[in-house]
Amino acid sequence: MSDDAASGNVDAAQYQQREGATILELRIFSCRYVIGSDDSVGAIFCGVTVIKPPYCTDHRALCYLAPPKPLKVSDLR
Ligand SMILES: [Zn+2]
Repeated sequence: MSDDAASGNVDAAQYQQREGATILELRIFSCRYVIGSDDSVGAIFCGVTVIKPPYCTDHRALCYLAPPKPLKVSDLR
């Protein structure tokens, strides 16, 4: 009864912790903010998984301006 199970040292899904994603790696819910470019693959996108495409929270803040604050009558004086 020898249980000789070698410790399963599986690489964590072989996921590359590379920063950014190429156009071919983008999914529907990937941030599409261009963070750079590479001669071989072209544009490099942020690629972070987002809830509300096309941009992640940080890049959404960069790309969209906050709506102007409504003027109050008291501000006009
Ligand atoms: Zn992003």
